[in-house]
Amino acid sequence: MVTRALDVVLLGPPGAGKGTQAKCLAAALSLLHISTGDLLREEVAKNSPLGQEAASFMQRGELVPDDLVAKMLLARLYTQQGLAGCVFDGYPRTQAQAELLDQLLAELGRRVDVAVYLEVPDGEVVARLGGRRSCPNCGAVYHVQTKPPAREGLCDVCGSGLVVREDDREEVIRQRLSVYRSHTEPLLELYEKRGVLRRVDGLGAVDAIFARLKEAVKGSVAR
Ligand code: AMP
Repeated sequence: MVTRALDVVLLGPPGAGKGTQAKCLAAALSLLHISTGDLLREEVAKNSPLGQEAASFMQRGELVPDDLVAKMLLARLYTQQGLAGCVFDGYPRTQAQAELLDQLLAELGRRVDVAVYLEVPDGEVVARLGGRRSCPNCGAVYHVQTKPPAREGLCDVCGSGLVVREDDREEVIRQRLSVYRSHTEPLLELYEKRGVLRRVDGLGAVDAIFARLKEAVKGSVAR
C-alpha cells in the first residue's frame, strides 16, 4: 500500500522487458506508466510535427533530442498531479534527462525513490528484439518463439496484422545497444551513489521477474 508518491525509474538495455514490467508494476501499485518510447510512437503515428521530427532518430536507433522528449514528458507528468506517482520507462536515458527529471519531481515535492536496473545480457537482447512482433493498432507485443499469437501474424487482441518495429531490425538493435552503453548505462552509477539503485535479474519468465521487481520496490517504499 503506497501512502505517499512513489516514483520508480526502470533502467536496462533495449529488450530488457522494461515496458512489460513497467505496465505490471504501474497496475499493481496504481502508478502512472510513462513510456517515452510509447509516447514518441504515438506522435509518429499521428504524424504530428513532433512525431515527424522524432521519426528519423528512432528509425536509426538514436536518441531523440532531449528538448523534444522533455516537452512530451512534461505534458504527461502535469496531467496527473495528485496521483500516487509514476513508473518511468525509457526515461531518463542521458545525464541531462536525469537532471531534468530530478528538477521536475522536486517541483512536485517528489524524487526518484527507486531506480531498478533490469539486467539482461547482450546476446539475449538481440534474440528478444529480433523475434519481437508488435501490433501497430493496439500496441500488444508478441515474440515468434516465446509468445506467438494464436493466428500467425495476427494480433490476438484486435486482429490487426503484426509488424517488426522499424527499430527492431538487427543493425538498428546494435545501434540502440551502443547508444545505451554510452549514454544510459552511466546513470546506474548516479543512482547507485544516491543509494536508490536496485539490480533485478531480467532473465526468466515474466511473472518471476515481476516478483523480483516487486520485492526490490517494496524494500524501497519502506525506506
Ligand atoms: P523504447 O521503446 O523505449 O526502446 O524507445 C524507442 C526509441 O524512442 C528509442 O530508440 C529512441 O529513439 C526514442 N526514445 C525513447 N525514449 C527516449 C528518451 N528518453 N530520450 C531520447 N530518445 C528516446
